[in-house]
Amino acid sequence: MMPSSEMISVEDARARILAFFHRLPAESRPLLETLGQVVAEDVVAPSAIPPLDNTAMDGYAVRAADTSGASESAPVTLRVVADLAAGYILQTPIGPGEAVRIMTGAPLPPGSDAIVPFEETDEPLRGINEAPHKSGQVAIYKAASVAANVRFRGEDVQPGQTVLPAGRVIRPSEVGVLANVGLTSVPVYRRPVVAILSTGDELTAPGMPLAPGHIYDANAVSIAAMASECGAQPRLLGIARDTVDDLTTKIREGFNADMIVTSAGVSRGDFDVVKDVLAREGSIDFWTVRMKPGKPLAFGAFNTGDGRQVPHLGLPGNPVSAMVSFELFGRPAIFKMLGRSDWARRRVRAITRDEVVNVDGRRFYARCIVTKGEDGGYSASLTGPQGSGILTSMSAANGLTVIPEDQASARPGDEIEVMLLD
Ligand code: AMP
Ligand code: MG
Repeated sequence: MMPSSEMISVEDARARILAFFHRLPAESRPLLETLGQVVAEDVVAPSAIPPLDNTAMDGYAVRAADTSGASESAPVTLRVVADLAAGYILQTPIGPGEAVRIMTGAPLPPGSDAIVPFEETDEPLRGINEAPHKSGQVAIYKAASVAANVRFRGEDVQPGQTVLPAGRVIRPSEVGVLANVGLTSVPVYRRPVVAILSTGDELTAPGMPLAPGHIYDANAVSIAAMASECGAQPRLLGIARDTVDDLTTKIREGFNADMIVTSAGVSRGDFDVVKDVLAREGSIDFWTVRMKPGKPLAFGAFNTGDGRQVPHLGLPGNPVSAMVSFELFGRPAIFKMLGRSDWARRRVRAITRDEVVNVDGRRFYARCIVTKGEDGGYSASLTGPQGSGILTSMSAANGLTVIPEDQASARPGDEIEVMLLD
């Protein structure tokens, strides 16, 4: 494919990019490593949750029939035959007139069929230093019905029940459910490895002394952080100088990744080296996307030499453009590899407090702070100067405006569309 440069919409660019990506193979992973990943096969519970009938309250396990007619003025007195903590089992059944002092979660003693909470007995009235059932007796102040305060075996999960269906995105509660049925790992679609390369003679890695005329490389970490937040495994390839040799070497170091993301070197007049290298190592398209910030975008695939192709997303160099472009194109690609289709951010209508000017026919993703008013309506204010090199404008924002290509301005008080970033 020869390099070309055409003007396309955000949707077109995204559709062309997504066509290149596929869900990655499934593998079994330890629970704690799977947040944000997608369950690849139905997970079936091997056993019941809870495994046994047990008490939902601290109190006394009783035979409900024994407590019939009990009241504060006419308590029923039962003989306390045992004290049972959670984690222990009582083997001997309780008989008529007997009770077991029992703690939340302890399996129901055989013979008992209800729990009377401490509050409905004379236990709260006993001295703090008195043994729990020193007298060997407990007075019950209220009749218990059968099954009162009992949690039944399998009431949460039945053996053989699907606890997580294939396709479910894993959150802390899913991890909890899996652990609850005794599992330590789960089959999920693999996380993509995203190799990230900054390009430019002017870049210095943070932590190193800044050479005269240089700037620190912000893009590598901001893009890596975004990739990681999306659920990918970022791999930093460092900084490539604008030479054919260095760029070629560094790009090849990313050939075993699932996607290579480069930043800079794709804007007009700047990119001869990048373009040459990209085209030589694979096929590459240069697009002009109708968006602001960001406009130049490269997308293609490298031929790894072993018959594989690695998709390549070439972001613009300006730090804000790089992040917004990654948000619009990199994030959906990562989601697709993870088996997720829910990459679209929530959008709301908001009243803009500031004027937003959009003169050059591109969709304007201005950085904004979105707040919800008392009436439930949203309002948005811009995060100050919107230059595509002003990274602090991004850091202050929790949203991006979506001002259409053909809308030249929005005045304070106008309703605009906003994409929420968190
Ligand atoms: P370019 O796309 O190479 O024309 O770069 C556009 C602007 O982004 C220039 O001002 C670059 O210095 C700047 N830039 C490029 N890469 C980075 C980076 N990794 N971190 C911060 N700024 C960058
Ligand atoms: Mg450059």
